[in-house]
Amino acid sequence: MSSGVIDLRSDTVTRPTEQMLAAMAAAETGDDVYGEDPTVNALEERVAALLGHEAGLFTMTGSLANVLGIRGWVAPGHELLCESRAHVVRAELGAHAAMHGVTTRTWSHSRGHVDLEAIGRMMAPDAGPYLVSTAAVAVENTHNFAGGTIQPLDQLEGLRSVVDGTGIRLHLDGARIWNAQAATGTPARGYASLFDSVSVCLSKGLGAPVGSVLVGPADMIAEARVWRKRLGGGWRQAGLLAAAGLHALDHHIDRLTEDHANAQVIAELIADADDAVVDRASVETNIVLLMVGERAERLVSEARDAGVLTGVVGPGVVRLITHLDVTAADARKAGEILADLIRRPS
Ligand SMILES: *Cc1c(COP(=O)(O)O)cnc(C)c1O
Repeated sequence: MSSGVIDLRSDTVTRPTEQMLAAMAAAETGDDVYGEDPTVNALEERVAALLGHEAGLFTMTGSLANVLGIRGWVAPGHELLCESRAHVVRAELGAHAAMHGVTTRTWSHSRGHVDLEAIGRMMAPDAGPYLVSTAAVAVENTHNFAGGTIQPLDQLEGLRSVVDGTGIRLHLDGARIWNAQAATGTPARGYASLFDSVSVCLSKGLGAPVGSVLVGPADMIAEARVWRKRLGGGWRQAGLLAAAGLHALDHHIDRLTEDHANAQVIAELIADADDAVVDRASVETNIVLLMVGERAERLVSEARDAGVLTGVVGPGVVRLITHLDVTAADARKAGEILADLIRRPS
């Protein structure tokens, strides 16, 4: 970054590249509420095809894509199961409950993984007049607050067989599905096709300024389009933003491995300073969690003074995220600065 500050707070902080801005400026646009923006339509079709689904809907945020996806499956008063640190229950400000009457129960897994045994115990597809009926299960891949961890594909396949025939639907919060693809070589569609609906972000590691896409069956997406407008989310010449998304899909997926390598460098430098602070084996993609206990707030503030921005994401947990605007040199420098701070006696 030109200011010299290295911003590791999130992969949402990226600025559009020159080439992305040129693609945006050249975008053909129309009124998307009338379904007439050719660039939005192209993006929706492209993402649906990439993920092996029938249709797509471009939304301003990943939260909105999750809200519309989960609303499609969970009627008011019914329940969604998810992991206890999932974005849908921790970071969407209760939207699913506040707007759509969705109740939740959670399982906990140290790496944020699907827990088939717990889900099998909790799920009650048709619980009758006393207990809440389960309508859907949401899974996050990669799992943000668990540290960018990747869901094991065989567990997801297991989940598909557990719910098949029960009427319970599966929603994938694939905000960082591209990171899972880059890290494992499993195509995003290999994960996405196991789910009834999937949300993906263009504005995280892919570096678009704004935007997510929800994909699923055509009838469900048609209804989500109505609800998007109902919630005030109909947008007009959104093709300017869709063009950024298309550019990101063309140019910024393969390079995610650089972000992963940079996260490894940071984790290694910090583990050399104190290997109790970072579990290197858990750094699978572009997120590094530091377990620093009561020092968390102080570490964030000392790092900020030294030109590295980070954030506290849970009790004693500091999160670092690498992205398009963090070079290999930045990563090394940030890792050295943080390692020095961690070496200091507390
Ligand atoms: C960022 C993120 C989202 C969507 O966030 P918005 O800020 O609403 O775009 C959804 N799920 C996960 C796991 C995320 O990290």
